[in-house]
Amino acid sequence: MNILMVASECFPFVKVGGLADVVGTLPKYLKKLGHNIKIILPKYRHIDGKKYNLQTLPFRLNVQVGKSAESFRVKYCTTEDRIEVYFIENMHFFNRDGIYSSSTGLDYVDNKERYIFFCRAVLESIKALMFRPDVIHCHDWQTGLIPAYLKTNLKNDGFFWNTSCAFTIHNIAYQGQFSAETVVEAGFSWSDFTPEKLEYYNNINFMKCAIAMADAVSTVSPTYAKEIKEFNGRGMEVVLNSRYDEVYGILNGIDYSYWDPFTDKTIAANYDKNNLNGKKLCKRDLQKLCGFKVNDSTYMFGCVSRLDNQKGFDIIVDALYSLKNYDMQFVILGSGDDTIKNRLKEAALSMPKKVAVFFDYNEKLAHKIYAGCDSYMMPSKFEPCGLSQMIALAYGTIPIVNRTGGLSDTIVYYNHFTKEGNGFVFNITYGENFVQTVLKSQKIFNDKQNWHTLMLNALNSNFSWDRSVLKYEKMYNDLTINKLKETIFVRS
Ligand code: ADP
Repeated sequence: MNILMVASECFPFVKVGGLADVVGTLPKYLKKLGHNIKIILPKYRHIDGKKYNLQTLPFRLNVQVGKSAESFRVKYCTTEDRIEVYFIENMHFFNRDGIYSSSTGLDYVDNKERYIFFCRAVLESIKALMFRPDVIHCHDWQTGLIPAYLKTNLKNDGFFWNTSCAFTIHNIAYQGQFSAETVVEAGFSWSDFTPEKLEYYNNINFMKCAIAMADAVSTVSPTYAKEIKEFNGRGMEVVLNSRYDEVYGILNGIDYSYWDPFTDKTIAANYDKNNLNGKKLCKRDLQKLCGFKVNDSTYMFGCVSRLDNQKGFDIIVDALYSLKNYDMQFVILGSGDDTIKNRLKEAALSMPKKVAVFFDYNEKLAHKIYAGCDSYMMPSKFEPCGLSQMIALAYGTIPIVNRTGGLSDTIVYYNHFTKEGNGFVFNITYGENFVQTVLKSQKIFNDKQNWHTLMLNALNSNFSWDRSVLKYEKMYNDLTINKLKETIFVRS
């Protein structure tokens, strides 16, 4: 099958969060199943043309955005896994310091134009490349107009007759909603400004367009799929319920060849489930790096995250103060919201021997934290899937999570009688408390035998893409079969 992945992030080229991990890994597994995959991304400024040996295709294309014709070039490279990755290069929209926002943390005011441009440019580029996908797989609101163009302006374009479109929701909190005039700016016809297609309460909402018009919709965990249809759809409940059985919940996986404490070159010592000594050395290394007392028996927590209210930083900050008299250390790495930064900074300044914070996007330090800590804090208010808890497990670091979305699908409370479970779970909705859960986990931490069993359970947890890729493949197969039926029906 010819498959085109379209996204605004893809590891290693550009990463803000888990979206990049998924778009960077899923294609490798689809390729292994024999599919022909191409990825297409914006060419952001920091994507280093020399490092990735980007080549420029010998044509320049134009698309209309509002009143201006935006010209662009297409660059490309081939990854080690022999996947072709294409980059849409336009200086005006993508040659900037940030991805979605400037260094002040505020979203770029022209994100609407940037991603209208990107969607149109993607569709023009694949024509120029003569690549006819069986499936275009779009991810998140930035790509949400692609299914809309295919079902409106391009519905009679023979180039796309055999092309189906799948859309994956990685986080329904980010929707891309703009005023009705966007219809004109994006080049749609007012006749398509209806609730079944483009209109959303007299606005245009890119995510809603995609949910309504993609041939299949999925999200990144079974529990999140249920939650967004029932109560946490941020206004998308009605459109999601209009196709209840067609919204798939497919759990993300992680790339175990990358997140592997046995081969990881960025950590102080390697280890695996047969020999955990290296993990102790990683902890000592991290304690030194944080300026903490080096002590194996101090219970050490980590967190690597976007600094966003979604991630429960109010709960974390309160916990730092509540737990200040316990033999615990906390290290947090994150970038994002200034208010959260300030609260974390205050906590670190008032408890420098126990709390260390790093405000940066830092892949290397992230690895050291995953490897060096005993437990991983993830009290997210909602979590579509969450990769960090899976990464923590891969490093034998025990997640403490709120029971929501993908965290419910991946973390099971450790039962010290049956020795089953891979973490600690509390439930904000039922008034359960993070600090109490941390204290319960400390009892297990102090019981070396139980903790060892729990670490082994974590290391044995398997969230590899091997299983999930088959579910995506089935979704694509269903789409192509439906398309075939549709074509036979329409043309006969
Ligand atoms: P989300 O997609 O909501 O940000 P996930 O848990 O799904 O959350 O994925 C987050 C990914 O981004 C993980 O791979 C995590 O290690 C990484 N990450 C987040 N913040 C940082 C940071 N400041 N430095 C390095 N990696 C980060």
